[in-house]
Amino acid sequence: MVLPRRRLLTGAALAGLAFVLPGCRPSSTPGERKTAEGEAPRGVRIDLRHAARAGAESFEITRVAAEPLWSPPAPHREAPDWGDYRLSLYDPATGTLLWRGGFDSNLDPAAASAVAAISVRCVRPATPCTAVIEKRRAGAVFQALLDTTLDPSNAGASAPALLSRIESLASNGDASTRFDLAILGDGYLESEHPKFIADARRAAGYLFSVEPFASRTGDFNVRAVFTPSASSGVTDPYLEHRRDTAFRCAYGTGAAERTLHAANERALRDAAGAVPYDALLVLANSRRYGGSAYYAGPAVVAIDSARSRYLVVHELAHAIAGLADEYYLPSGHGPAYRGNVEPWHPNVTTSERHAKWRMSKPAPTPWNKTEYDARFEKYVKRYLALRAARADEGLVEKLMQLEARRQRGLLANSGQTREPGLYEGANGYSTGMYRAEADCIMFSLQTDYYCGACTGAIHRAIDAQCA
Ligand SMILES: [Zn+2]
Repeated sequence: MVLPRRRLLTGAALAGLAFVLPGCRPSSTPGERKTAEGEAPRGVRIDLRHAARAGAESFEITRVAAEPLWSPPAPHREAPDWGDYRLSLYDPATGTLLWRGGFDSNLDPAAASAVAAISVRCVRPATPCTAVIEKRRAGAVFQALLDTTLDPSNAGASAPALLSRIESLASNGDASTRFDLAILGDGYLESEHPKFIADARRAAGYLFSVEPFASRTGDFNVRAVFTPSASSGVTDPYLEHRRDTAFRCAYGTGAAERTLHAANERALRDAAGAVPYDALLVLANSRRYGGSAYYAGPAVVAIDSARSRYLVVHELAHAIAGLADEYYLPSGHGPAYRGNVEPWHPNVTTSERHAKWRMSKPAPTPWNKTEYDARFEKYVKRYLALRAARADEGLVEKLMQLEARRQRGLLANSGQTREPGLYEGANGYSTGMYRAEADCIMFSLQTDYYCGACTGAIHRAIDAQCA
């Protein structure tokens, strides 16, 4: 919890967008994912350089790699329309849409100048096609940032598979009909392979202990992909640690000291390409609290933190189901959202008019917000004071555990437990933005349950890969 947001609220569409994928195979329905030749569709990975400068964003393709093990989901009418960006492939002769998928980036577009290297995947076209990357704007409008030709014959080989050791942790069916989760580790020496496998089993256990993942276990394949690092542990400027690791996992600095991300996403994707995967969980062999995730990108967690259960279930939900953070850092009566842009995320909204979830309580729904804000603001100050004092991690973990219990008790007393409504305070804003229930894994520090809106979104994400 209290992970700094990559973006508080960037470009988003108006509600009711109801985008329907025309699809390259209009007759496709869930369950029909084979081609006429009986082969599952194969994928291609596009490595991108995403840059922001003086308010302007750009994308540049730096590499195209084959992803022969991955089966892209077939387009269908119920495909979630999530992500700040989307990639579309068109037939250059007819203009027919061949494939489309949404994604996020770990770049802060509000930064004066920033660059990120990310990867997106799509179906491998049979012949050269037109690839368009667009940014979601307000008013259900997408703005093209890249329009280029994608030639599948230029797709090089991916995945230095020889460097990876693969262990199946759960196998429930063919990759083209299951949600495939790949768990990778960073900052593990070759001699720490047994620890990585134990950590990966622990992380999978965390995920499948929570609904709806618990009841969907049979829809998942889980594979642990081990890539040794030259150093044990990961880079942490706060602790003045510099480590030489396979994926360059590193904590942020300053106010972002809790952001832990994989700086070398290309190496990460290369290693992950040794297995079919629909989502990536990266275990940083580190204790200090931290993590990050973005939709369709990797979720990264400090697996040795006392709060690693929370980090796994919270961060993976961002990556898999496009969920926004529901929490906010209260400050006085703010921060307030005063815009009119409805976020695309399925678990937050600006108004009941957008009706992303059924409400059984009147809107806005009363909850003990004043008490919560005062309590949480005090906690945040304590957390920051401990960090400023370079306190032992054990003290920080103790504070967080205590706060998790307090929050659970306080929110359970809100009088609205598990009643869907319109609870003010979400997506980084204290006012002007709403969530579906008083409590949720995306709101507080608890690890017991996702709210109904988040649960529905996770089901949709799993369904999209299992169709
Ligand atoms: Zn939720």
